[in-house]
Amino acid sequence: MLYKELGKTGKKIPALGLGTWRIGGAHTPDHGKDREYIEILKKAIEMGYTHIDTAEMYGAGHAEELVGEAIQDFERDDLFIVTKVLPTNLKRERLLCSLQASLKRLKTDYIDLYLIHWLTATSPLQEGLEAMAQAVDEGLILHAGVSNFDKTLLKKAIALSPTPLVCNQVLYNIEEREPEKDHLLSFCQKEGITLTAYSPLGKGSFGQRASAILKEIAERHHATIYQVALAWLLAKERVVTIPKASNIRHLRENLASLDIRLSKEELKRLDENR
Ligand code: NAP
Repeated sequence: MLYKELGKTGKKIPALGLGTWRIGGAHTPDHGKDREYIEILKKAIEMGYTHIDTAEMYGAGHAEELVGEAIQDFERDDLFIVTKVLPTNLKRERLLCSLQASLKRLKTDYIDLYLIHWLTATSPLQEGLEAMAQAVDEGLILHAGVSNFDKTLLKKAIALSPTPLVCNQVLYNIEEREPEKDHLLSFCQKEGITLTAYSPLGKGSFGQRASAILKEIAERHHATIYQVALAWLLAKERVVTIPKASNIRHLRENLASLDIRLSKEELKRLDENR
C-alpha cells in the first residue's frame, strides 16, 4: 500500500481506498445482497483496503450498516473510515444527530474523517463547520473535511472553520479535470489539503472511449486502462482515491495499480491528454 499524509496532520492514510456507493442500495436500502457485500468488504480489508469511504446518503444508511458489519472482525485502529453528512443536516443539532446515527450504523465510537457531502444555497455552512469542530473536541470524529467544494468555496470554508479542514473529496479522473481547471488541485497541494478523487474509474465507463494514449500506455505496462487511470492519480502529490469495486477481480486489479510506475514522460502525456 502507498500511504500519504492526511492534510497537515502528520497521520498517514492509505492512498488507495474503497468506495461504497451502490453497495446496499442507491437512494433506498437494498438488502438483497447483504451477505455477499459483507464478505466482499471483509475480503477487501484483508487485501489491504483499510481506507473505506461511505456516507449517510448511500442506501439511506445501509452502506454504513454493511461497512459496520464488515469491520467488526478487524482492529478498529487499523482502519480509516470516512463518512459524510448531507447538506440538509448541517444545523448543529441535526449534524450531531446524523453523526450519532452514522456511528451506530458503523458500530464504532469514532469516525476518522467526517465530510460535508456537498453544499446547497441554503445549507448553513458555518453552523455545520462549528458542529464538526464540536464533534472533533468530543472525540466523535478525528478529522473534518468537505466534499464537492470548488476552490472558492473551500477557501471560504477554511476561513470559517474552527477546526482544520484536512480533505476535499471531489470528482477527479483522467477524463474529468475540473480540479485542475479551477486550480483546486494546486491550491490543495500548496495548502497541504488531501484531495480525494472520487469516481476515479469514471464509474467503470472509460472502456468505450479511452484515448489512444491511455490504451498505448496500458499496453506497454501490461495493465488495463483502469489500472493506468488509478496509477496516474496516485502519482499526484496530495491525491488519494477511492475506487468502488464489488468483485475480487476488480479489487485485485485496482490494488495492482500501486505497482505501476509511470515514467515522467508517460505522466506528462496523460496530463496533457485532456
Ligand atoms: P468508480 O469508482 O469510478 O467506478 C466504479 C465502477 O467501476 C463499478 O461499476 C465497478 O464495478 C467498476 N470497476 C471497479 N474496478 C474496476 C476495474 N479494475 N476495471 C473495470 N471496472 C472496474 O465510481 P464511483 O463509485 O462513482 O466512485 C468511487 C467512490 O467515490 C464511490 O463508491 C463513493 O464512495 C465515492 N463517491 C463520492 C461522491 C461524493 O459526492 N463525495 C460522489 C461519487 C462517488 P464492480 O462494482 O462490478 O466492481
